[in-house]
Amino acid sequence: MPLNNMSIFKSTLTDNGYRITKAREDTFKLLIGSEPQTIKELITKSKGQIDRVSIYRNIDLFEQLGIVQRSYIGWRYKLELSDHFISHHHHLNCLRCGQTIDIRDEKHIDNFIQNVCQDFDFQLRNHQFEIDGYCSNCKDI
Ligand SMILES: [Zn+2]
Ligand SMILES: [Zn+2]
Repeated sequence: MPLNNMSIFKSTLTDNGYRITKAREDTFKLLIGSEPQTIKELITKSKGQIDRVSIYRNIDLFEQLGIVQRSYIGWRYKLELSDHFISHHHHLNCLRCGQTIDIRDEKHIDNFIQNVCQDFDFQLRNHQFEIDGYCSNCKDI
């Protein structure tokens, strides 16, 4: 899977006229196999091997190219690989400890969204669905 992801990543760059650089590859690797992360967490995880300016710049580019997507928790956001790399899913976001739980296989949400779009003759391109609240550890505090 990671190998395949890497080849999709590389062709996305080259198809859009961008070079494959080590810093871009390394930034991409920080995103593989992880739950959504803040840019700060990415910087910490890189342990100084990629400078922070490059991380910001690369993430910016990845967003433009649809390689990563943001999910908002209030006014803050986390980053994760887009649906091109990991299967479509939604999130439960804990407002206290900040953990993000992936929820999958909730076809009814996507069916609902498709039905709404059909009713309004609206062409669906993308959607995000976030549930903010308190996780089981945090809800009784
Ligand atoms: Zn929590
Ligand atoms: Zn969905």
